[in-house]
Amino acid sequence: MAYDTNNIFAKILRGEIPCNKVYEDEFALAFHDINPQAPVHVLVIPKGDYVSMADFSASAPADLMVGFFRAVGKVADELGLVEPGYRMLANAGENAHQEVPHLHIHLFGGKPLGPMLD
Ligand code: 5GP
Repeated sequence: MAYDTNNIFAKILRGEIPCNKVYEDEFALAFHDINPQAPVHVLVIPKGDYVSMADFSASAPADLMVGFFRAVGKVADELGLVEPGYRMLANAGENAHQEVPHLHIHLFGGKPLGPMLD
């Protein structure tokens, strides 16, 4: 799928629409989900035009890949999620109901979480 530069997270990255930011560095931006599914529900997105893990893993430069995943870990740590634990999840494509076509990792925490799949 070609990257749509008008998707909502691209607009957030460009500062065209606001977000409730929790972390930003040169590789990633993290912000609270607008419709939280847990007491803590944060999205971490890479700074680059990637629809999902397929194109990110195939074509992102190594420094962005490392920087992005370091940012995910840092956000979880800074939000106090590491203990007692949290869930990270990335929906990819139609079967997973990916709503926004810009790669994002969901971080869920702040309470004991139920089984992972419906
Ligand atoms: P997906 O289904 O693509 O994995 O998840 C997209 C997520 O983005 C959803 O949890 C949804 O609530 C969130 N979302 C959609 N639009 C916005 C928005 O404009 N701002 C924020 N902060 N979150 C959004």
